Amino acid sequence: MNKVDFIIVGQGMAGTLLAHELISANKKILIIDKKLPASSSRVAAGMINPVAMKRCSPVNSAEYYLQNAFKVYRNLELKLKAKFLYSKPILKLFANEDIQNIWKVKYSNEDMDKYIASFSAKNEFPFLENSYGGAIVEPSAHLDVSFFLELSRKFFAELNVLSDEIFSFDSFDQMNCIYKDNLAEKIIFCEGHRLQSNPFFNYLPMTPTKGEIMKIKIPSLNFFNKMISKGIYVIPIGNFEYVVGATYNREDLSDRVTKEGRTFLINKLNSILSVDYEILSVSAGVRPNVKDRRPLVGVHPEFSKLFVFNGLGSRGVLVGPSLSQELTSCLISGLPIEDKIKGHNNISRFN
Ligand SMILES: Cc1cc2nc3c(=O)[nH]c(=O)nc-3n(C[C@H](O)[C@H](O)[C@H](O)COP(=O)(O)OP(=O)(O)OC[C@H]3O[C@@H](n4cnc5c(N)ncnc54)[C@H](O)[C@@H]3O)c2cc1C
Repeated sequence: MNKVDFIIVGQGMAGTLLAHELISANKKILIIDKKLPASSSRVAAGMINPVAMKRCSPVNSAEYYLQNAFKVYRNLELKLKAKFLYSKPILKLFANEDIQNIWKVKYSNEDMDKYIASFSAKNEFPFLENSYGGAIVEPSAHLDVSFFLELSRKFFAELNVLSDEIFSFDSFDQMNCIYKDNLAEKIIFCEGHRLQSNPFFNYLPMTPTKGEIMKIKIPSLNFFNKMISKGIYVIPIGNFEYVVGATYNREDLSDRVTKEGRTFLINKLNSILSVDYEILSVSAGVRPNVKDRRPLVGVHPEFSKLFVFNGLGSRGVLVGPSLSQELTSCLISGLPIEDKIKGHNNISRFN
C-alpha cells in the first residue's frame, strides 16, 4: 500500500489551490485528474473582482477574499517562478443615466468608496462606445488561470504526486479511504460540475452553468490597461489580444461552442467597442454553480474521511485561496469543520 495523508480528486482551481496548501504544510498527497472536457478553470477569464456590478455592492467578505487572493497568488508566483497575477483596474461602463446615478449615490453614501477609485468622463476613451461615462473599480486583478494550472500540473508531476487518470468509484473503499493501492487519511473531491456524478456528494444542489468565452484581436489597440465591464467583460492580455466573456446557459452542459453564444458576445461587444476587431477563438466550460450561490465545502455527513471542495461558481479565482486555507487548517488540525468553514459555505446547510 502507498500511504498518503490526502487524496485530491480534480486539479482545477479548487484542487490546485488545496494541493499547494497541503504541500506547503509538508503533507503527503496524491492528486488524481484527467483534464476532462468542459472544465471550468481551463477556460476561466481569471477576473478577480470584489464588486457585484449589477447591484454596485461589495461581494460577501470581499476585503478578506481579496487580501488572501493577492497574498496566495504572489507567493505561488515565487514558488513556481513565473508571473500569472496582474493587478488591473476595472472600467465599469454605465449603460444609462440611471445606472450612473446609482453608482454615484453608492459611492457617496455607502462603503463602495473602498472599491471605486474614480469616475471617468463620457467618451474619455475614443475606442469605446461610452456615452454615460464609467467608474474605475480597484483593487482588482487578472489571473492567467490556464498558465497557472499548467505550471502547477508540471510542479505536481515533478514531485510525483499527480496521477493522470479518471477516478473510478468502483475502485474506492469509502470506509477505509483506500483507492486502488493508495491508503489515505482523507480524500477531498474537487471535481467541479462533475460532482453530480459523485455517488457520495451528488445530493448537493448544483446548478451547473455553461459559459462561452472568446479571444479577440483589436489591431488598433495594442494594450488597454483596464478590464472593461458592461454586461460582459473585455480583458487585455497583451499583444493586441483580449478575452471577452461570458455567456450563461443551464441547458447545454457540453464544451461545444454555439452560434447563440457567439452571437450574444458579438452583440454585446459591438455595443462596447467602436473599433474593428477579429475573433481568434471561442471556447466553453461549465461553472460549478450552486442553487444558493454559495461554495460547497465540508465533510460527508456519514463518512468522516470524505470531504468536498466545490461550488466556486463564477468567482472561484477570488474566493478559492481563502477557502483552500480554511479547509487545509481543518484537514490538518482535525478541528471540527464548523470552526473554520462558515455556515453559508459549509455543506452542513444541506444536511
Ligand atoms: C467561461 C467562464 C469564465 C469564467 N470566468 C471567471 C472569472 O473571470 N473569474 C472567476 O473567479 N471565475 C471565473 N469562472 C469560474 C471559475 O472557472 C470556477 O469558479 C473555478 O475555476 C472552478 O474550479 P473547480 O476546480 O471547482 O472546477 P473545474 O475547473 O471544473 O475542475 C475540476 C477538475 O476535476 C477533474 N475531474 C472531475 N471528475 C474527475 C474524475 N472522476 N477523475 C479525474 N478528474 C476529474 C476535471 O478534469 C477538472 O480538471 C469562469 C467560468 C467559465 C466557464
